Amino acid sequence: MLFTETRGNDGTRDASVSFAAALLSPIASFGGIYSPAGLNPIADDFLSRHLNSDYQAMSLALLQHLAIDIPAPVLQQALALYRRFDDASDPAPVVKIDHNLFVSELYHGPTRAFKDMALQPFGLILSELAQRQNQQLLVLTATSGDTGPAALETFRNRANIRVVCLYPNGGTSDVQRLQMVTEAANNLKVIGINGNFDDAQSALKSLLASPTFKQRLQDLDISLSAANSVNFGRIIFQMLYQFHSYLSLVRQQEIKLGDEVVLHIPSGNFGNALGAYYARRLGLPVARIVIASNANNVLTEWIDSGRYDLSKRELIATTSPAMDILKSSNVERVLFDLFGAARTRELMQHLDESGWYQLSAEEHDQIKAVFAADYCTDEESMVFIKQSFEQGYLLDPHTATCFKTCRSAAFAQQVNIIYSTAEWTKFAAVIDAAINGNRGHTDQAALASIAASANIEVPAGIAALFDKPVIHPAVVEKQEIEGEILKFLES
Ligand SMILES: *Cc1c(COP(=O)(O)O)cnc(C)c1O
Repeated sequence: MLFTETRGNDGTRDASVSFAAALLSPIASFGGIYSPAGLNPIADDFLSRHLNSDYQAMSLALLQHLAIDIPAPVLQQALALYRRFDDASDPAPVVKIDHNLFVSELYHGPTRAFKDMALQPFGLILSELAQRQNQQLLVLTATSGDTGPAALETFRNRANIRVVCLYPNGGTSDVQRLQMVTEAANNLKVIGINGNFDDAQSALKSLLASPTFKQRLQDLDISLSAANSVNFGRIIFQMLYQFHSYLSLVRQQEIKLGDEVVLHIPSGNFGNALGAYYARRLGLPVARIVIASNANNVLTEWIDSGRYDLSKRELIATTSPAMDILKSSNVERVLFDLFGAARTRELMQHLDESGWYQLSAEEHDQIKAVFAADYCTDEESMVFIKQSFEQGYLLDPHTATCFKTCRSAAFAQQVNIIYSTAEWTKFAAVIDAAINGNRGHTDQAALASIAASANIEVPAGIAALFDKPVIHPAVVEKQEIEGEILKFLES
């Protein structure tokens, strides 16, 4: 599989690149990103042949079908990391919660959120590529909560990689912050900044533009790399679990091979949804992909009206912070796949310059043939968490948004799969408020309170966080970040 640029080629780079090249330098001409030049559907008998394969074997077969330039033994090592998940034989279990309603739990990895599904194997592959090229890479990330812990965990002690992770002090849950600041490894640095997530992101941007910083990196022979979800190295591991959940339902005799299912995805930057889109393109029988949003419902508007409009919006802080995003980077790859590079460039330029774009009626029809959408307010999400808890299932505020979409009458007769993106332990304060009415609890108190109400235990890895030594106490002002990072790189 080769990759081309979503906004066309400016003549200064190759017109198409390999997977490894797209992974190492994800930024493309005209501010675009790399996307598959084409996707060959799977063979008609792929699903029946893999009915009894485990997650690793089925995934390896899919990755080999995609023909990426990573040797099979490296892919196997990367996929073997899923054996560290709760159930070594099934990293993403599918749970039945009602008639025609299933949850595919994507949070059984080391940091208890869906980011592990992609970042675990991605970390190994990036390190392998860096070693192969004899390069030292610096992965710089700004996190609102879930990406940071998952990136630190996957790159911990990996050769040829260093990670600096910026988080907004006070802007994450206690569990998320502790997952980061207690990470002990020489190649990891975590820095809190006084400000919100936007401040952390803009600090990172100005750093990347700083000539003195770039010069120091060059002197130290370190190249910059990215681990955010525009990197296709992450997306490729997010188009496997849809096959797994489909085959799980066949094995559980809930559906027959060939039956169509509806996938519900709590969406932010659209990486999870994009994986579902590619799975459908490869031939998985998916009737519709339903995009669930919170009050930042720009994607709902886009799918309902064909208009992507940021011009009158301000970001709203919600109880599902990983979905508090207005510019969903991966939507661009859908535009490219359906409408081509010239049109994508036109639309994205319009968005950058005017804050909005409008699809034509025909284009909008093509979007609606694949996607549907709805959004869920914080108040509604609290009600879903409480109702679901009373019926015996604990869910987090991100996953709760899908409890709204899957109740739409349009899908009542279909088999619905919700992709759950976080364990209850990561957003305990919100869940405790929803089910017990407690307000203002710390995460530690909320975890205990939920565990008592649900008669379960706080998972050991989460409980232990509160006793671990803090390795990264630094909380700094924006202008001190460059100095902090250079100190780390030179040590
Ligand atoms: C990252 C994340 C999302 C959003 O996923 P995208 O791929 O960015 O759309 C949703 N829920 C949780 C808990 C997440 O960590």
